[in-house]
Amino acid sequence: MSVRLLCIGECMIEMAPQHDGRYAMGYAGDTFNTAWYARRAAGPGIEVAYLTAIGDDAASQGLEAFIRAAGITPELTVRPDRTIGLYLITLSQGERSFSYWRDSSAARTLADELDDLPGVGPGDMVSFSGITLAILPAAGRDRLLAAVTRARARGARVAFDPNIRPLLWPDAAAMRASIMQAAALSDIVLPSFEDEAAAFGDATPAATADRYAGAGAAMVVVKNGPGPVHLREGGTTAQIVPPPAPRVVDTTAAGDSFNARVLVGLLRGEPPADATAAACALAGRVIGERGALAPV
Ligand code: AMP
Repeated sequence: MSVRLLCIGECMIEMAPQHDGRYAMGYAGDTFNTAWYARRAAGPGIEVAYLTAIGDDAASQGLEAFIRAAGITPELTVRPDRTIGLYLITLSQGERSFSYWRDSSAARTLADELDDLPGVGPGDMVSFSGITLAILPAAGRDRLLAAVTRARARGARVAFDPNIRPLLWPDAAAMRASIMQAAALSDIVLPSFEDEAAAFGDATPAATADRYAGAGAAMVVVKNGPGPVHLREGGTTAQIVPPPAPRVVDTTAAGDSFNARVLVGLLRGEPPADATAAACALAGRVIGERGALAPV
């Protein structure tokens, strides 16, 4: 009997510049990156699944093949009138900037008819993010949160990374309200302090943890780049210092891989502090490699 980790969100085509100036095509997206790293970190006792919507074109079929080849179970809705989103990375003097084509991506419809989360029962886990929420229309957001709430009532644990991206939201107040609404129905919240300080004005990682704990999250794991991770569980707190990274090449997916290792650890029954320390070690290796999906 395996437990299921179901990640929900958008996976896009990634166009990444290579050393010779040409572009390489891949697939990435915050919740998908988490699924990908979780699949690599998890043993046979954990099934990793990914829920999204795609088109029926060749690019969408390529994504489905990529999901399957990674050992992840696809939970896909097919929208023949749409295709998947795309982003392109531009390098200028070592700095990466991102351009997105995702306004009408199929993933925006992933919750349009969503009722129950597939295959999620007692002991399983559901993982989604603030980006998942941001790309959905208001009705889709409501449907997703209702489905998550039902899965939780059946005994699944819910993990949420606010992954705050103000540009994806119509306004800051709506963004903050949706993020807090999702956190309130989550068991585990995995924020990044820099984003939280900017969006909510938190003075310290402890303040971020207190705010999400106050909303109802039993466990809050506040990432802070190279700084200590602030872990709050029930009434206790711990600071976990990431090992110094031998080299920082590309911080893309640091938080996504971190989340993956925390969630796999919790599904395996590891103490949260141990799962967090292992997550720091994994994220430290990921930032030493180029690209969102680094086979570390
Ligand atoms: P972030 O989302 O940027 O806070 O990063 C997520 C996790 O990646 C952190 O909690 C660390 O474990 C790791 N990490 C990020 N940046 C660094 C760094 N410069 N050195 C070591 N670890 C890092």
